[in-house]
Amino acid sequence: MIKKPKVISFDVDGTLVPTGFVDAVWLEGIPSLYAQKYKISFEEAYQIVTQAYNEVGDHRIEWYYLDYWIKRFDLNTSKEELFNRYRHKVKIYEDVEPVINALRNNYKLIICSNAEKDFILFQLKSLLNQFHHIFSATSDFKEVKKSREFYGRICELLKVEPEEVIHIGDHLIFDYINPREIGINAILINRNQHKVALRIHTIKNLKELLKLLDYLNCPI
Ligand SMILES: [Mg+2]
Repeated sequence: MIKKPKVISFDVDGTLVPTGFVDAVWLEGIPSLYAQKYKISFEEAYQIVTQAYNEVGDHRIEWYYLDYWIKRFDLNTSKEELFNRYRHKVKIYEDVEPVINALRNNYKLIICSNAEKDFILFQLKSLLNQFHHIFSATSDFKEVKKSREFYGRICELLKVEPEEVIHIGDHLIFDYINPREIGINAILINRNQHKVALRIHTIKNLKELLKLLDYLNCPI
């Protein structure tokens, strides 16, 4: 790391929040409403719904938009209603708030996520004012994945060099390889200590980010 970092960017799912809420909305909420509407069992509905998700696939933008699925299945609900139904599942990892508080005065903190923006806003409601900017690849750029171009545009918008950005996320390609290709200092977080195939240094929580910054003589 040569340049002094100015921006610290965070992925959301698996980095700031566990996937419980998102999974509940997609894999419990939509199928149970489908079962109700078409008077079939939850198991049958689950099969139909997940098959439809797979047919569309995560390379198409609709896959990410909850409203698309509500409309497609003609469900009698709204995004807000579904979110509220599973609000008890929203959880932010315990290390997030202290680390954000430690960093917010010295860096611009941003969010860079694939998720639809409303999912991000709903889950991070209590922390939103700590972030300088929230970027959703799917909602803001109509891109389905966090590509090199996505990261490049963010650097442009924030008027920083990629070398001045640290990004932390849990996906090898979208949070590590792609940002690294343009020079962003990407760090892979591996909260569940899954085996990483490549020899990449990973951190297991955000407290380790503070240690790393301290080691690099960056202010914290
Ligand atoms: Mg993630």
